[in-house]
This record gives sequence, structure tokens and C-alpha cells, in this order.
Amino acid sequence: MVMSMAETKRKTHSYSALSTYESCTLKYDLSYMRGIWLPKIYSYELVKGLIFHGYAELYKSTKEFANHRYLIDYAFTHADDVSPEWLGKLTLEERQTIINACKEFKEWWDKKFYSSLYAPDEPVDEFFKIHRETKLYGDEPFPFNGVLDLYYEDDKGLHIIDYKTPKNAKIDTYRSQLELYAYFLGKKEDKPVSSISVYFAFAKDVKNGDRVYPVPLTRIPKTVEKYSALVTEITGPNRKAEATLNWLCDYCPYRGLQEYCPVSVIAGAKPQPQA
Ligand code: SF4
Repeated sequence: MVMSMAETKRKTHSYSALSTYESCTLKYDLSYMRGIWLPKIYSYELVKGLIFHGYAELYKSTKEFANHRYLIDYAFTHADDVSPEWLGKLTLEERQTIINACKEFKEWWDKKFYSSLYAPDEPVDEFFKIHRETKLYGDEPFPFNGVLDLYYEDDKGLHIIDYKTPKNAKIDTYRSQLELYAYFLGKKEDKPVSSISVYFAFAKDVKNGDRVYPVPLTRIPKTVEKYSALVTEITGPNRKAEATLNWLCDYCPYRGLQEYCPVSVIAGAKPQPQA
């Protein structure tokens, strides 16, 4: 098999790429092998997630960002790739929903997370060994890369917390991703990962108002084994590139485009509306 340019350049695998292959091998082929990246389609779901992440990544990382109002303004005006036009389209209600989620995060950080770790309320991540937006790389058993929202260290080891923003977010959707992060973080730091948690920023059905859910550590070896086998398939002669219609087609940029995904056209799918 002759390898494409994008293919030969491809040395590491993100969870996003691996899960794309799992859900539709054609979508993986179009984006990760052939490098056909169509313009990102913005939606309120995406924009609110970017603004929330901007807030959560920075809260109390410096004295300046300890000021909630200042940081709210900053997060709204510095959200990755979100244009002023898109921000201008947010309704008052949508803005308020995002602000409320940031406020809840602040309360969780101040009253539960931070105070559970350390006595004084100091915005000094280095001292407390809090790591934000950590780029993760690993080689064994397969080359992997990812970005961890937050992890911190204590005498029990490393603790991972990842923020998820879909309104219907469920823990099972994210388990494999976080298990891979835990495995590669543990290897990189040469320390045990003692806990993994997910912070659900917008999910409605949170238990007793607690937005943090634990992910058990038991499945990590099996998950690593499973994705090793997947990488072997992706990088070998048996890699597939077949359309698999599934619920994620609703968010697929190739949906309804004859030149990329004729199967979805036959199924009656229309191209994504441009926002
Ligand atoms: S529209 Fe669906 S079937 Fe077609 S490439 Fe995208 S995910 Fe695959």
C-alpha cells in the first residue's frame, strides 16, 4: 500500500482520532489520512464549551484571574477561534447559562476542590503542584498525544480532573479517553494515578448537585490493550475507510457531501448548515 503524505507524517494518535476511527473509518480517512479539514461549524454547544474551558483553565492561575468578573469578561472575549460575530449572536439567556456554569465552577473550586487540598486560598499553582492544560505525549505501547484539563499531585499520587461541557454528557462517553490519559500521565510522571474525575459543567442530571464524578481505575489495562490493537489496525494493511452511519453523522462536516460521503447523501442527509 502506498502511504499518503498525511499518513507518513502521522506519528502519534490522539483519543479524538482513535474514537473517530471507532465511529466511522471513512471520517477518519478523510480527516486524519487525507487531511481534508472542512471549516469548523460553530454551534452554541461548541461555543459555550470553549468559553467555559477558557474560564476553568485560568481561574486563580494568577492574582488577576482570581477576580471572577474580570475572568468572565476575559473568557468571553478570548475564547479560542470564536469570532466577535458569533459572540454577538449569543442570546442573553445563553450568556447567562455560561456565566452560571462559570460561577458554579468557581464555587466548586473555592469551597470544595481547593479547600480540600490546601488551607490558604492562594493562586499559586506551582507551589501546590496543580497542572493545567498539560500536553501529554507517550510512546509505549503506541504513540499517543492528548491535552489534560487539570491534574494535581499529593502524597497519594496524581489526580486527574477533566471538564466536559455537553448538556447530555454521560460518564461512559469519556471513560476510555480518561483511562488512556491516566495511563500515559502515570508513565510520563513515573507516579501512580490515584483518581480520575470528570467535572460536568452543564449536565442537568447531576447527583445531589455534585458536578464531579469519579471514574474507576480498574479498566485501564484493558483499555490500553484495546487501543493498542486499534492502532495496529489503523497503521497496518487492514485499515478501513468505510462510511458507517451513526448518531455522530449529525456533527460530521462531510455529511451530505457527495464528493466525500455519498452514503450519507443516499441516506437523505443534507450538508451541515453554515452558521
Ligand atoms: S456523515 Fe457519517 S458516515 Fe459519512 S463520513 Fe461522516 S460520520 Fe461517516
